[in-house]
Amino acid sequence: MKAVAVYPAQHAVNIIDIAEPHLAAPTQVKLRMLEVGVCGTDKDICAFAYGTPPEGSDHFVLGHESLGEVVEAGPAVTDLDVGDLVVSTVRLPCSDANCIACRAGHYDFCITGNYREHGIKDLDGFMTEFVVEERHNLHPVARELRDVAVLVEPLTIAEKALIEVGEIQRRLPWGGGPHRAVVLGSGPVGLLGAMTLVNSGFETYVYSRAPKPNAKAAVAEGVGARYISSVETPIAQMAEQVGNIDLIYEAAGAPQFAFEVLKHLGSNGIYVFTGVPRDQPPIEFDTERIMCNLVLKNQVVVGVVNAGPQAFDNAVRDIGVFAARWPQPLRATITGRYPMEDFRDPVMGKAGGIKNVIEIAQAGK
Ligand SMILES: [Zn+2]
Ligand SMILES: [Zn+2]
Repeated sequence: MKAVAVYPAQHAVNIIDIAEPHLAAPTQVKLRMLEVGVCGTDKDICAFAYGTPPEGSDHFVLGHESLGEVVEAGPAVTDLDVGDLVVSTVRLPCSDANCIACRAGHYDFCITGNYREHGIKDLDGFMTEFVVEERHNLHPVARELRDVAVLVEPLTIAEKALIEVGEIQRRLPWGGGPHRAVVLGSGPVGLLGAMTLVNSGFETYVYSRAPKPNAKAAVAEGVGARYISSVETPIAQMAEQVGNIDLIYEAAGAPQFAFEVLKHLGSNGIYVFTGVPRDQPPIEFDTERIMCNLVLKNQVVVGVVNAGPQAFDNAVRDIGVFAARWPQPLRATITGRYPMEDFRDPVMGKAGGIKNVIEIAQAGK
């Protein structure tokens, strides 16, 4: 079967032939891959910034944003049928007995760093025809969501952030007053973040470069967020327009911009970082203002990476909510579907759009 494989040492990415996997334990499930989403992580891996093959191999299969269809289930799997749709967990826990996070099932908070991630670190990914996975790593999705379920994995980032924000805001037992959120960036993480925030009752603003009209602004406004262009509206003016900013959800990956906006976080505000920038030069930075604000306004800055089981469950639930509430804008976030042979355009960064997807198979075929 075909797979998109990354050879980090050779700086090569190729379609190769690999052996079709078979069930090796009664708790396993064999999946036909339907679609795999492409994100900045895949682009970084294919620029050889990171990404490590399984031990003993010189290559690994790319792809972590999956949607698969069950084609075979082991005898111990009683709750999945052939034809069911599932999304796989990306990260698997480390094996260290002393990693209290992994041992507690919160592998997204792994302490040792020895976790493995499909298509990223020490594990093959999903840009291939068939995959075998343990049942407990799979999250079933309703078949009606076939055309949007590939967005579940990227949505888990916002869902994890929302869980974290909820935990932090428990310090304000009166609920914290009006909830105003600013999303930085209007890529898939930003737009799915905006949907999650609007759906949770936040008055939500998306602050991103491109002036209106553009496709990303249309999605943002289609879900009830307000779109502000950073080219047309400087940061201070944006902050004035919004009022007290209770939450900033950073999804732009641009450090200087991100920290400039941090200066405008409101009283008792939370700043969530999701971006992982690279190759950025050091910048001058107004540390006094930031430090004073953090202290005098009780602010919290938090980073979120990956997602635990709860965030996956919430993402599966909310993708259904979004599909019912905003059918057109949700579908408009998927702007390109490419056959595996054409993976270079979306993965090597030539394709534009919002979320591009590698289409591997049709359901039931
Ligand atoms: Zn991703
Ligand atoms: Zn761990």
